[in-house]
Amino acid sequence: MAAVSIQLGAQDLAHYKKIVKELSSAKYQGRGYAEDGANKAGKWIAKEFEKVGADEVVCQPFKLDINTFPGKMEFSVDGKKQVPGVDFTLREFNPSCKGEYKLYYIDTLNYNSEKIFADLASEEYKGAYVVCDFMYSFKHRADFRKLQSKEGCSNSGLIYTWESPLKFYKAYGEVVREKPIIWVTPDFPMDAKTIKVDMENEFLKDYECFNVIAKVEGKRHDSCYVFTAHYDHLGKLGKKTYYPGAHDNASGTAAIITLASYYAKNQPEYDMYFIAFSGEDANLRGSEWYAEHPVAPLNQIKYLINLDMIADNNPVQYCEVSNEGMDGFAVFEKINAEKGYFKELHRGELAGNSDHYPFAQRNVPCIFLMNEDGDAFKFYHTIHDTWKNSIFTNYEPIFNIITDFIEIISD
Ligand SMILES: [Zn+2]
Repeated sequence: MAAVSIQLGAQDLAHYKKIVKELSSAKYQGRGYAEDGANKAGKWIAKEFEKVGADEVVCQPFKLDINTFPGKMEFSVDGKKQVPGVDFTLREFNPSCKGEYKLYYIDTLNYNSEKIFADLASEEYKGAYVVCDFMYSFKHRADFRKLQSKEGCSNSGLIYTWESPLKFYKAYGEVVREKPIIWVTPDFPMDAKTIKVDMENEFLKDYECFNVIAKVEGKRHDSCYVFTAHYDHLGKLGKKTYYPGAHDNASGTAAIITLASYYAKNQPEYDMYFIAFSGEDANLRGSEWYAEHPVAPLNQIKYLINLDMIADNNPVQYCEVSNEGMDGFAVFEKINAEKGYFKELHRGELAGNSDHYPFAQRNVPCIFLMNEDGDAFKFYHTIHDTWKNSIFTNYEPIFNIITDFIEIISD
């Protein structure tokens, strides 16, 4: 039977946008672990799944160790105050730091390893912060590894220049390293003398967060479809600055809620699970936990669809597919060729970059859909990933290609 394309009503798009706006609002403080941002968002999502008519909604708790930065975040250069998220960010593993320090600039034109360590041992530069272009530091990784440890050198920390807008990551957020690393923009002065820092890290041990799992009953229960999207994000950088994470990934979360809404009204052939994961931006922690503790056996999954960052306007849709998912991918390609939802489905190498990965590793047929390199991509992991900067033109094609796909493979 040929797939019948679903006409999306204006209402669905309005509902979708409303969810993205809600989840990226100040209420959830960047959906991180400071101020329970992610957990507050998770509770809202659970309620929304109930509202749209899911038959069952459960929260699946798991624990993680995580650095948070909810307190002081002060940084000035020669007395000039720097703005968190704009003029500087941190490495996610930074310890708290406080004090006034001299700056030592790495001479990249005449790089001399011995001289650098001799200078940093001298009275003049003892305990200084070392400033260097990050890409350059890569060339001398062994030296920079030393500069990052207490044993390797007596410098107090490092400052790396990196492109603007500055990005923040949390992949190594579960450890606290010895020395702080501060990222600054190329506008950082190359002749400043001193910096003042007062930055507070609060390390949360065994912090409890949760995945939200909604079920819509199908006509049959021997297999299921799974739709996933992570709802956590990067949280806060100091008291006032937070990362809204509208594109990453309020956009995917909103899509699985509207898909649940659709299937709650149009009973599917097989059971469906809609899973909003936490802990993704802290290294796929929620999806790893779920893959080890699934509510329905993984070998009953007919297909898993993971949505991460879909609020962009690239007409080429990026995907990753597990080996077992390749037959399904051929169906996606066929639908796209017929309907022209996207200019192309561009399949990249499978990588550990989002929540489909733990399932792909466990031989689950799955696809990952992410819209990258459009006009919203430059805001990825920056404080500018806001509702206003999100682009909603690809929501409808995503929704349609998914519902067409489910209809075809359920036959
Ligand atoms: Zn992310």
